[in-house]
Amino acid sequence: MTETRLRFPPSPTGYLHIGGARTALYNWLYAKQTGGKLILRIEDTDGDRSTEESIQGIIDGLNWLGIDYDEGPYFQTEFEEDHSNAAKILLGKGSAYKCFCTKEDLDSKREAALAAKAPLGYDRTCRNLSVEEIAEKESAGIPSVLRFKVPERSGLLGYDDEILGRIESNYKEIDDFVIVRSNGKPLYLLCNVVDDIRDRISHVIRGQDHMTNTLKQVLLYEALEAPLPAFAHMPLTLDTKKAKISKRSHGEIVAVQFYRDRGFIPWAFNNYLALLGWSDGNDQEFYTKEQLIQDFSLGRINKSSAIFNYRKNDPKFFTDPKAIFINEHYLRTMDISELAKLVQVELQADGLWDDAYGAEKKQWYETTLDMIRERFHTLKDFTTLGRAYFADDFIVEQKPLKKNVLKHEGLKEWFPELAERYAQLSEWTLEETERVARELATELDIKPGIIINGMRTVVTGQLAGPSMFDILIAIGQEKVIRRLKNVGILFA
Ligand code: GLU
Repeated sequence: MTETRLRFPPSPTGYLHIGGARTALYNWLYAKQTGGKLILRIEDTDGDRSTEESIQGIIDGLNWLGIDYDEGPYFQTEFEEDHSNAAKILLGKGSAYKCFCTKEDLDSKREAALAAKAPLGYDRTCRNLSVEEIAEKESAGIPSVLRFKVPERSGLLGYDDEILGRIESNYKEIDDFVIVRSNGKPLYLLCNVVDDIRDRISHVIRGQDHMTNTLKQVLLYEALEAPLPAFAHMPLTLDTKKAKISKRSHGEIVAVQFYRDRGFIPWAFNNYLALLGWSDGNDQEFYTKEQLIQDFSLGRINKSSAIFNYRKNDPKFFTDPKAIFINEHYLRTMDISELAKLVQVELQADGLWDDAYGAEKKQWYETTLDMIRERFHTLKDFTTLGRAYFADDFIVEQKPLKKNVLKHEGLKEWFPELAERYAQLSEWTLEETERVARELATELDIKPGIIINGMRTVVTGQLAGPSMFDILIAIGQEKVIRRLKNVGILFA
């Protein structure tokens, strides 16, 4: 069997969005599964809309996801000669012809056709111009475009889509489409095919939004005498109202960068993308990389649209709850030393990293992460909700502050007293810290919960979390004493 060759050919006109990343992932999975190659080709022929920033964003996004490629990035603009040569070949062999119709001609014909309810396609006026007529128009300086000469055949033109099955159309319904503009620039439709032929692409896996081009491209392959690749057109990703997701209407939430910046775990996000349009027929939700590469199949990509279940203005779920759910799963269950590396990056970015966490305090660092991750959703939570474990400048949340501290004026005296007693402890253990706290509550004749909940708030800033005495041990004697002593600041 010949090598499978896949490609991801983004147009660099924006950020790498969820739909694009999913396309890249499916191509990558298929390449890995079949021992083939993935090629990254930047389709930058639209000079006005392509930007350096976008190219960098796409490359960074793929790197973050861990979607590596075997060849490229190639840039479509490097191959302009190939595109023009292909156009010349098509013209030379009679598969294309020069069309001198002006825009005004075409517009008025279109209006007339509309009025007469006649077919709207190009009426093929220039399809059979004689050599003399062409020469005459050219010497008169009339500009021309190049049109593809759709063969006059009865029967159906078609291809077998790996996802959708047989796709067919009548030859008659296909317009003699333009392949080179009057300024000499080949159209994207042609460039894309020429590049795929040169790159020996065996499988074209892309969004259904490209299907309007595919039948025309099938004709181009035939005319260029190149073997047809397999096509697989994936369903689009829509929002809950069935609208196409886009930055314009949904904002940065659809950009892959958003998830990186919000502390998603790269593999978790790939896992989410994989399920956005594919399933292996059971309810499995989590896949290791190896398993997904093994189980993925083009035939099981959904035929209907994928739904990006994003509920605007829902503060609890700032994106598709499924993406958060999958991320939580990995964050809470992944190998702790792997997590430790990811959290290190977050701590470093916030200036909270201590080299000792990788050396003499490694044990503490990993145990603490393991303890606090139970309630966390993203990597960012380690420097926000979990900040008190690494720094003194943590935020005390309003809800626990009111409920567990400000409601009990007495804490202003009780906590400094508790701090005194904690300072006397020669052993900083679960049993000792608990015994002292409970003794104080008994002496004061108050519920132990007042001390315990108050302490959680003062020491971590949070309403909930791991068991209170585990927290005290993790935070350490000195810091706990300091925070208890300073309780007065919270009342100020
Ligand atoms: N450049 C196209 C895009 O970004 C991809 C076309 C294709 O996959 O054939 O949508």
